[in-house]
Amino acid sequence: MESGAIQPTLDIDAVRADFPILNRPLPNGKRLVYLDSGASAQKPRQVLDAVLGCYETYYSNVHRGKSTLGLKVSESLEAVREKVRAFLNASSSDEILFTSGSTLALNVVALSWGRANVKAGDEIVVTPMEHHANLVPWQLLAKEIGARIRMLPMTDDGRLDLSRMDEAITSRTKLVAVTQLSNVLGTINPIKELADAAHAVGAVIVVDAAQSIPHLPTDVQELDVDFLVFSGHKLYAPTGIGVLYGRREFLEAMPPAFGGGNMIERVHDDHFTPAPLPAKFEAGTPPIAEAIGLGAAIDYVADIGLGRIAAHEHALTVYAHEQLKSLPGLVIYGPSPARKGGIISFTVQGAAAEDLNFLLDRNGIAVRHGHHCTMPLHERLGVPATIRASFGVYNTKADVDALVEGLLAARKRLRLT
Ligand code: PLP
Repeated sequence: MESGAIQPTLDIDAVRADFPILNRPLPNGKRLVYLDSGASAQKPRQVLDAVLGCYETYYSNVHRGKSTLGLKVSESLEAVREKVRAFLNASSSDEILFTSGSTLALNVVALSWGRANVKAGDEIVVTPMEHHANLVPWQLLAKEIGARIRMLPMTDDGRLDLSRMDEAITSRTKLVAVTQLSNVLGTINPIKELADAAHAVGAVIVVDAAQSIPHLPTDVQELDVDFLVFSGHKLYAPTGIGVLYGRREFLEAMPPAFGGGNMIERVHDDHFTPAPLPAKFEAGTPPIAEAIGLGAAIDYVADIGLGRIAAHEHALTVYAHEQLKSLPGLVIYGPSPARKGGIISFTVQGAAAEDLNFLLDRNGIAVRHGHHCTMPLHERLGVPATIRASFGVYNTKADVDALVEGLLAARKRLRLT
């Protein structure tokens, strides 16, 4: 991807010092080479301190009564909502809903907006590179309603084929659901163009920003998207907290997806009136300390600067492509580094991904193997599994070198010629 304006490079030693897990040996004594941030990112001290600080000094339930702690923790939670609003440049914090993660957020859109708006015969457009979280909820909805799933065409090098966009996005399209950054190919998709195409036929667009949020500055107004989701844990925040951004007019019109406490204004014997936004979509006790951790994580990446993080990861991606390509039998899937984020998925001829993963892991190198929750994509790639290396702010060229050395050692061990 473009690294934008020239910025001072980040102080990688200072960054790495922030992540306790990177500074202690693994149980087998090896240095941890963490190349699995696409699955979940490690947590900096600042996030850990914020979570512990919440539990140790002001933890209580939120939005319940007016106790000193209750008020303080409720204010802190709402301050995080405002922080997320600013991070996404949403026009109101009422458009920011806390969920447990991207998966739940996408299911909320399907269960609430989808059931209310998609009719039999309508079409839901997805892409071949979607994570199952942005595919199966639409399949469930389509089955229930009698709607149809359509795929946008993809080029051989793993980009959406925009020249054939109108084959899939038509007057029958009700919804376009697309990832901003593929969790396997690394492809960065042109969200604004897709939003324009969806809106031109009266459809809405849902963006899965689970992979892009830690790497690309995201402006929901500039992108002109209707819904956008992400998970805190890929952005250096704790697990269990995620975000659903929704355009206010849609959220106002949608029924609540789940019922329970906090999402009601009044409850009668046989009916209820929902609470105003955002509470309407937040049934039950939210992940409180996790949300506080998300606020600290947003501060953390904002302090470093997403532009600087993107430039750092882009340089690593270019370097890793160069190094990996020189290995015999290694095939990288997806576009060139100029068109992708810091994710590199590959296979090595003659070696099962599982075996490579095992041998790398023994040397302290954490990557991921398998279909990465993208079975339809792997079918198109013609392989059952790939190895994926994915970068975070803390990775270095030495990590890439360790991966290359680890792969060379694995080749020897597997007696590949
Ligand atoms: N979408 C993409 C592109 C992902 O990579 C992931 C997780 O790997 C998800 C959605 C699901 O995220 P979560 O499991 O945090 O809900």
